[in-house]
Amino acid sequence: MKPVLQLLTERSCACALVVLVVLWSPPTLAEPVGALAEREMRTLATDFPGRMAGTDQERAAADHLAGRLSDFGYQPELVPFPARYSFHPMGAGHARERAGTSHNVIAERPGRSDRVIIVGAHYDTAVARSLAQAEAGIGGPELQGVDDNASGVGVILELAARLAEEKPEHTIRFIAFGAEETGLLGARHAVSLMSAQERERVLLMINIDSILTGDRLYVHAGPATYAADAGNGRARDRVLALADELGMAVATNPGLNPEYPAGTGCCSDQMAFDEAGIPVISMEATNWRLGDLDGYQQTEISEAFPAGETWHNAQLDRIEYLEAHLPGERLSERPAEVVTLLLAFLREIAGLADEP
Ligand SMILES: [Zn+2]
Repeated sequence: MKPVLQLLTERSCACALVVLVVLWSPPTLAEPVGALAEREMRTLATDFPGRMAGTDQERAAADHLAGRLSDFGYQPELVPFPARYSFHPMGAGHARERAGTSHNVIAERPGRSDRVIIVGAHYDTAVARSLAQAEAGIGGPELQGVDDNASGVGVILELAARLAEEKPEHTIRFIAFGAEETGLLGARHAVSLMSAQERERVLLMINIDSILTGDRLYVHAGPATYAADAGNGRARDRVLALADELGMAVATNPGLNPEYPAGTGCCSDQMAFDEAGIPVISMEATNWRLGDLDGYQQTEISEAFPAGETWHNAQLDRIEYLEAHLPGERLSERPAEVVTLLLAFLREIAGLADEP
């Protein structure tokens, strides 16, 4: 006969197990698509402003993201790398080096094949590059970075949560990149750790950056890999076709500026993979028909958006501000659209079972 104490312990263990099972039941499937992405976006933006490369706040955000991925059943890894950038106190010249350690947060659903699909979004926020920028609220400790890029991180967290119990044919690797704003440092570090063989095993890298402020959603191929082989536009075209089937308005760069060829994008973490010969697609929201036709101007110039953009601006790229000034329910709608689209696309390319 077991002593009473042991019985009690066993019973409380059983209770704990029941509680665990309840917590472990798929965390998102019951709620509408996009709800988890929006919630995570809001949490990252409001609880971790000023996630600047190499700072304690960036590290705290990395730990937070790893915690969420663990909650979903992953075993995330924090991969450190040196993050250096120059700060120009007086504008041009007089550069001072700033250095710290940044981290990529990596988690994966292992597949049956040796092929890999990488889904990434940077979680850091912009740094001020000069005293003038700091005083103008460009970059710095107050910047929530909701659009750029808590919005993309929210999407990859919901994708991770929804795929946590899937057995894909090809491995799906989620990476929340650090130090994008100081020169794609996290993405470059991730690429630098891959052997030539490992690079060849990557079927596609999917990057998500800034999906809120811009007038419309875009998907692009990578300029280098597309120029080398137009077949690398197939993934982009499939996403465009899926968007059409789902009734979503998604475009690609119309190519009005010769420096940015039609159908290709620019300037976020996917570039590090593209330059290394790995096929990429990038998702963003902006307006390639405005300003210098280079994808930087996100929306028409207005009283609320005097430069037609919110990039790195602590007053503008902020939850309350975007909620007040973007049309409709943008903060809910965009995450829902991008999660829906990428889930459908991943089901196809990663070889996932059809939805039950
Ligand atoms: Zn960004």
